Amino acid sequence: MQQLEDKIRTEGQVLGDDVLKVDNFLNHQIDPELMYAMGKEFYRLFQSKKITKILTVESSGIAPAVMAGLIFKVPVVFARKHKSLTLKDNLYTATVYSFTKKVSNEISISKKFLDEDDHVLIIDDFLANGQAVEGLMEIITAANATLEGVGIVIEKTFQKGRQLLDAKGVHVESLARIKTFKDGQVVFVDDQD
Ligand code: 5GP
Repeated sequence: MQQLEDKIRTEGQVLGDDVLKVDNFLNHQIDPELMYAMGKEFYRLFQSKKITKILTVESSGIAPAVMAGLIFKVPVVFARKHKSLTLKDNLYTATVYSFTKKVSNEISISKKFLDEDDHVLIIDDFLANGQAVEGLMEIITAANATLEGVGIVIEKTFQKGRQLLDAKGVHVESLARIKTFKDGQVVFVDDQD
């Protein structure tokens, strides 16, 4: 998606070998118009599927997921990373190792928001090693719901997430695909050499 690639080029910051900071428009401050355009693009990519629910993980997946939910006209459920007094029973849970924070988190979704009639589109901000998506897939399996596809805002193709999901036959669509980071700059898969 050209608009997103342009934004990453102008406002993204490469940190070390494998992390992209996009807190100007996605991970801290949010650009609503870009999020809306991304929601429409996710709809275009998955409109042939019968989606009843969109699933994501708090917090950075929520903005793009809500915009997609707006266009699909379906509810959006986000897995929570912390239990609370109001979220402690009747939960589906999965353990997810966080690539950026280097710790394992338990993610949870209340059983009342996912069941066997659901056809789910997972949306997340980044695909790195695929741990967050795998955790959500575990929860979808536990609920006997059906996974229809995975929509990613920014995929880093040099990490193993895509391979892992392809091997499982999952339909993955990413709005921006990064091939590598070179001299502090982002190189996209569709860049000319
Ligand atoms: P995975 O579970 O695929 O290894 O990593 C995906 C999760 O880690 C995303 O939900 C995102 O929050 C975080 N993440 C992975 N790589 C990056 C990155 O390069 N930049 C940022 N900001 N977050 C990332």
